[in-house]
Amino acid sequence: MAFTGSARQLALLAAHRRGESDLICRDGMWFLHATVEVADQPLSEPDGFVGVDLGIANIATTSDGVRHCGKGLNAVRHRNRHLRRRLQAKQTKSAKRLLKRRRRSEARFAANVNHIIAKSIVAEAERTGRGIALEDLQGIRERVRLRKPQRVTLRSWSFHQLGAFLAYKAVRAGVAVILVDAAYTSQQCSHCGHVDKRNRPDQATFSCTSCGFAEHADVNAARNIAARGETGWAVSHAA
Ligand SMILES: [Zn+2]
Repeated sequence: MAFTGSARQLALLAAHRRGESDLICRDGMWFLHATVEVADQPLSEPDGFVGVDLGIANIATTSDGVRHCGKGLNAVRHRNRHLRRRLQAKQTKSAKRLLKRRRRSEARFAANVNHIIAKSIVAEAERTGRGIALEDLQGIRERVRLRKPQRVTLRSWSFHQLGAFLAYKAVRAGVAVILVDAAYTSQQCSHCGHVDKRNRPDQATFSCTSCGFAEHADVNAARNIAARGETGWAVSHAA
């Protein structure tokens, strides 16, 4: 039997394959599920933190100012949502089958996007000797609940998946991960610390009413997360 994969997957498989593999047919495509065992790198003491803000318009934004936007992903979701409404009205067997197939392919697409984002963030943290600071995921759910018009695009499992991918890729690379309390990260000024709802006049803009500092709202939030990560790490690792 022949199979293929990315160069990285094939190399991993050749070097670390363990146990049995399963061949699974999904939506007319065949997938090989194989298990690999990869030893984790020893954890290195972080020299600062990359803060990661998870969102909807931008799936992940780092304190370095890198925005991983979910344009392609959100477009796919939008398209599928319309299709779903049409198909759900039909109630036929074939409509149900098609719905199921769409849901699965959307999930695969989202997982792939999350893998790519997580990989890029972990690689940057590793390269610069920093750890990764993430919002506590409970906090994300609470914050996102407030944004009603966008609720429809929220897939909370996708946030959790990205968080999980970041965590396991970080562990594998020996990069420290810290979860921080995300309360007010979007309203707080990362320059002077001033907290005010009016600091965030709209979705994309942060503009401090106290010191005048201005930045993309998600980048500002990611910087707060990085700072909280640094403080949290110092507190929990103080001898
Ligand atoms: Zn300020």
